[in-house]
Amino acid sequence: MRSARITLIVLGAALAGNAIPVAAQKPAPAARPRSARRTGVIGSYTPPRDWPLRQHDFDLQHQRIAVTLDMAHRMVIGRVTTRLVLTGAPTARVRLDAGNLTIDSAIARNGRPLAFAFDTTQVTVTLPRAAARGDTVEFTLAYHTIPERGIYFVPRRGIIWSQGEATETRNWIPTYDAANDKTTWEFLVTADSGQKVLSNGRLVEVTPAGNGKQVWHWSQDAPASTYLYSVVEGPLTILKDQWRGRPVEYWVSPDTVAAVWRTFGETPAMIELYSQLTGVPFPWAKYDQSVIPDFTYGGMENVSATTQTDLVLHPAGSEPQSGGRGLDAHELAHQWFGDLTTTANWAHIWLNEGLTTYMESVQNEKTRGWAAGQHSWYDQQQQAMAADENGHERPLVWGEYQGDDPIVLFFSGHVYPKGAQLAHQLRRLLGDSLFWAGMHRFLVDNAHKPVTTADYAAAFEKVAHRDLDWFFDQWAYGIGYPKLQVSRRWDRAARRLDVTVEQTQTIDSTHPVFRFPITVRIATRDSVVRREITVSKVKQTFAIPLPGNPLTFRFDEGGWLLGKVTTDQTTSELADLAEHDLDWAARNWALHALAGSTDSVADAARWLIVRNEHEPSLRALAAEQLGTRPSATTLEVLRSALRDPASEVRAAAIRALGIVDSAGVATTARTMFETDPNNTARLAGVMTYATVAGDAALPSLLEAAAKGRTLGTRATVASELAKSHDPRAAAALEAYTSADEPRNLRIIGLVSLLQQGDTARASSVATRYITDPDPLFAVQAVRALAKVGGDPGRAALEKAAAVETRGTVLAAIRQALGTGASD
Ligand SMILES: [Zn+2]
Repeated sequence: MRSARITLIVLGAALAGNAIPVAAQKPAPAARPRSARRTGVIGSYTPPRDWPLRQHDFDLQHQRIAVTLDMAHRMVIGRVTTRLVLTGAPTARVRLDAGNLTIDSAIARNGRPLAFAFDTTQVTVTLPRAAARGDTVEFTLAYHTIPERGIYFVPRRGIIWSQGEATETRNWIPTYDAANDKTTWEFLVTADSGQKVLSNGRLVEVTPAGNGKQVWHWSQDAPASTYLYSVVEGPLTILKDQWRGRPVEYWVSPDTVAAVWRTFGETPAMIELYSQLTGVPFPWAKYDQSVIPDFTYGGMENVSATTQTDLVLHPAGSEPQSGGRGLDAHELAHQWFGDLTTTANWAHIWLNEGLTTYMESVQNEKTRGWAAGQHSWYDQQQQAMAADENGHERPLVWGEYQGDDPIVLFFSGHVYPKGAQLAHQLRRLLGDSLFWAGMHRFLVDNAHKPVTTADYAAAFEKVAHRDLDWFFDQWAYGIGYPKLQVSRRWDRAARRLDVTVEQTQTIDSTHPVFRFPITVRIATRDSVVRREITVSKVKQTFAIPLPGNPLTFRFDEGGWLLGKVTTDQTTSELADLAEHDLDWAARNWALHALAGSTDSVADAARWLIVRNEHEPSLRALAAEQLGTRPSATTLEVLRSALRDPASEVRAAAIRALGIVDSAGVATTARTMFETDPNNTARLAGVMTYATVAGDAALPSLLEAAAKGRTLGTRATVASELAKSHDPRAAAALEAYTSADEPRNLRIIGLVSLLQQGDTARASSVATRYITDPDPLFAVQAVRALAKVGGDPGRAALEKAAAVETRGTVLAAIRQALGTGASD
C-alpha cells in the first residue's frame, strides 16, 4: 500500500491534524519501553524483537465468495463457502471475523442448516458434532450488509471498489482477517452486463445470469492472505499489454485512457527489472491494475490485481513532478514483497512496505541513473530521520498502537523510508552481489509464507555467512540513527590525517551506538585516497596516511549512511564540494551544509550552481537558498533561472524572487502562471503572485481553482483562497465540496471554509453534508459542524443522531456532541 503522497501532504497541512481522512491519520505516539532507559548499557537492547502472532485453531484452505454489490442501496449481498482444517483441540465451534455482517443462514456441506450466532465483530458456526485436529470442515454463510469500510461505492463514476488492508475485508466477507494464514479463493460477482469486474487470479468465465446480469468468476489458485481480496466493478475499458507473454492489463474509465498509458506504461519493463534483480520471475499468472476514484490510499497491492488511485493520472504538462511511476513501481514490487512473502503481523510491516519502497528507488536507479537513485535514498533518509524528530520515535519493528485499527502502525513515518534504508544499509555493508543474493534467498525460502524480520535476517546470514544480529539490533529493533561529529587533524610531518568520529545521538539501552562502514575520500595534488573505515564506538580516531596535503575531504562517499553528518569543513571547502564533486550525494550534502550561510563564498557557490550544475534538483536547491537576501547578482541569477529548461528550477526561482524581489515580481509570476507549459511552475507562479499581489491575484487564483485544473493545483490554491475575505473565494471553496468532486477535494473545501472564518457559510455547508451518502465525507462534515456550528450546529447534530444508521457516522456525531468540539 502507499498513501496518495502529494494529495495527502496538502491535506495534512490543510487539516492541521483534525479532519484528516483515515489514510493519513497520524498515530498516537507509541508507548516506549521506559523501564530500562538511561541504564547506560551500550549494546544491550530492550525493545521487543518478537510481537505475538494472532492465534487461531484452524488453517484456512479456500473460500468461494459469491457477491452482489448493490450501488443503489450501498449494500453487499453474499454467500461464502469456507473450507478449513482444524489445527487445535477438538471443537464444534468455528469463529470467523465478521464486521457488522447480518448473517442470514449457515449451511453444512450436506445441505443441513447449522446453528450460528454473530455480533458486530464475529460469526460463530456450531458444527453438528465436535471435529478433531486435522479434520476438514466446510460450511456456507449467507449474509448481507451495508458496509462503511471494505467496500466503497462511487456513484458519480459508476465504480465500486474494495480495500482489505489492514483489517477491512471482514466488513464485507466473513473470513480469517489476519495476515498469518494464506488461502486460495474464488470470486463470483454478479453485475449488470454493462459493468466489468476485476478480481485476483485468473478469469475463469463470464456467464449470463438473466435480468441483464452476468457473473464474473475469478479464481486465485495460489495461496495468499485475505487482506489481498479484491473486487473492482465499473463501466471500465481494458487496456492490454504483456510481459513475456503473460497478460498485463489496465482496467480504467474510458475517459482516462491516454493518461493511464502515460502513468503506467512502464509496467512491463518494471516486471522484467524486478524479475531479474530478485532472480524470482513475476510470481503470478497475470498482472492487472485498476484505476479508481476516491481511493482511501494511493495504491494497494491486491495480489495480481493492484488498485491505483486516479489522483495520479495527470496531463503531460505535469511531468516529471506528478508522475505515477513511483506508485506503479511500489505496488508492483509488493507482488513479491507483501503478496508472495507476507508480514506475519503488522509489527513487521516494513517487510512489505520498506522493501517495496526500496524497490521503488531501485527502479529509479536502474532506469534514470545513479544520481536519481541517490536522490531517492537521500529523501528516504530525510523522511526516516524526520519521523523521529517529530517526537514519535519508535523502533522500525513495533506492534503497539492506540485505537482499534492497526493501520496507524503503517504511518508513523518510519515503516516506509526507514525500512527502505535498512535495505540500503545492508546493501552498503554486503555489496551488490550478496545483497541481491539475500533478497533472492528471502523470497525463495519464504514464498507463500508469513514472515518476520528474523526470516529476513536469516536469509542474509545464509548468503553472507556472517552474523548480522548486531545489524538488525540497531536498525530494526533499536531506536534512532547515528548523529556524527567529524573532525580532522593533519599531521604534516607524519603525512597523516587523523579523522575523529563521534556519535552524538542519545545512547542508552534502546538507542544504540551504531556500527557501520564508511568510505572517506581525500584528494591530494597527485592522487585520490579512498579509505573504508568501520565506525563502531562512541568516539574513534582513524589515522589515514596520505602522499601529500589533503585538498578535499569527503566523509561517506556515496551518501549511503542513514544518519546526520556534521564536519569541521570550512565554508570554502563545502562550497568547493558543492560546486565540483563528481558525486551527486557529495554536492547535495555540501549544498545543504551551506544552508543558512551568509558568507559571500556560499552565495558565489549558489550562483555558480544555478548557472552550471547539470542536476536540476541541485539548481533548484541553490535557487531556493538564494531566496533570503537580495543582491544585484542574485536577482540576475534568479531571473535567468526563470528560463531554466527544468520546471522545478523555474518554480524555485519564482518563489525565491517572491521573497527577494516582492515589489517587482508580480507580473512575472502571473505570466508564469498563464504561460508556463509545466503545471508545477504554473502553480508556483500563481502562489507567488498571490503572495506578492494580495487581492489583485484573486482572479488568477479562481482560475487555478476551477474544474479541469489538476487536483494538486486546486488543493494548493485552497490555502490562499482561505486567506481571502472575498465572497468569490468562499464560493469557490464551497464548490469544492460538491458531490461530483473527488472526496479529497471535498474535504479540502470544507476545511478551507472553516479556516476562512465565514462561520455562517461553513456551518450551513457542513450541516448539508451530515447525511452525505459517502460515510467518510459525512464524518468530516460532522467534525466541521462540531467546530463552527455553535448551538444551531449542536441541534443539527442531535437531530442527525436520532436517525443516523451508519455506525462510523453515528460514532462521530456522538463524539462531537460529547466533547463539544474537535477530537
Ligand atoms: Zn505499499
